[in-house]
Amino acid sequence: MSDYNFSIEAKNLNKKYNKKKGVDINALIDLNINIPRGSIYGLLGPNGAGKSTFINILGSLVIKDSGKVKICGIDIDGDAKKSRKKIGIVPQELNIDPFFTPIELLELQAGLYGVRKKDRKSEEILSKVGLLEQKNAYARTLSGGMRRRLLVAKALVHNPEIIILDEPTAGVDVELRKNLWNYVKDLNNKGTTICLTTHYLEEAENLCDHITIINKGKILKSDTKENILNLIGKKTVSFALDKKIQIPHNLNRYNPVIDNNKLLVNYDKNITQLKEIIEILNKNNISFYEINTYESDLEDVFINLIKNHDT
Ligand code: ADP
Ligand code: MG
Repeated sequence: MSDYNFSIEAKNLNKKYNKKKGVDINALIDLNINIPRGSIYGLLGPNGAGKSTFINILGSLVIKDSGKVKICGIDIDGDAKKSRKKIGIVPQELNIDPFFTPIELLELQAGLYGVRKKDRKSEEILSKVGLLEQKNAYARTLSGGMRRRLLVAKALVHNPEIIILDEPTAGVDVELRKNLWNYVKDLNNKGTTICLTTHYLEEAENLCDHITIINKGKILKSDTKENILNLIGKKTVSFALDKKIQIPHNLNRYNPVIDNNKLLVNYDKNITQLKEIIEILNKNNISFYEINTYESDLEDVFINLIKNHDT
C-alpha cells in the first residue's frame, strides 16, 4: 500500500453549506488538490476561502457533497478508519477539554487511536512541544500558545504520516511561532508530509515548498514556492494619465491594466528597462503627468489574484 506519490489527492471536491434563510454557501467548488508525499504544502487564502472545510473533510469532520479523497492512497469513502489513522489534524479552534491535563489528554487520544501502551510516547511528545513541565496542569490553566502546542502534541500521538495544521500560528507569539516552525521542519525532515493553512504570507514563504492560493472555494494559483516567488521579481510602474487611452498592443506582454486614471504595467527588472516602456507610450502619443514604480511582493500577488477573482 505504500506506492503513492501524493499523500493527499482530492478530486472535484464540492461542499455547500445550507443557510437557514437566504442563499447557500459554496464553500468548495470542484476543488482539485494533490499534496506531494514528503512536502510542506501551504494552503493560503483569506477568511472564508474554504481552507478549514477542506481540512475538515480530510478528517471526516465535515461530509463532502461530492468528489473523491485519497489519503496515502486510501479512499476515505472506502476505509475511513484506516485513512484517518494516516493523518493528524491540528484544528483551528482551541477546543480542549479544560478539565484534562496534557498527559491525560494524550493518553486518551492514544487510546482512541488504538496505540498500545508500550508504543506510547506521551512524555516524549510533550517534551518536544515544550509542555513537559505542564503535563499535570489542568488545560484551562494553560495559555493560548500552550494550548496550541498541546493540540499539536495531540495530533502526533499516533505517529501519523501526514500532519495537517489549520492556522497553527493564529494568536501565537513570535518566539513560539519559531519553535513551532522548527518542530514542523524537523518532522518534515524525518519524512512526515505537512499541510498547513495560513493567511500569513510570510509563513508560507518561509516554510512551504508548494503553495496553493484559494479564494471562495476555488484555486487561484498552485505552484512551487519558487515559481510563485518568481512572480515577485517583478516591478510595477504606474502612469497617471491625462485622458482615456487604448492600451497599445506592444504593451500586452507587460500585463497592462487600467485602474481609474492609472495605467499599471508589470515588468521584470532583470529583462526590461523602464525607459523601453516609456518609449512605447511616447510612440503611441500617450501622455502622463505622474509616474511611480514599486516592487511587488507576495502580498501584492495575493491581493491582485484575489481582487481580480472577486470582480
Ligand atoms: P476558511 O477556513 O478558509 O476561513 P471555511 O472553510 O471556514 O473557510 O469557510 C468557508 C465558507 O463556508 C465561509 O463562507 C464560511 O462562512 C462557510 N461555513 C463554514 N462552516 C460552516 C458551517 N458549519 N455552516 C455554514 N457555513 C459554514
Ligand atoms: Mg479556517
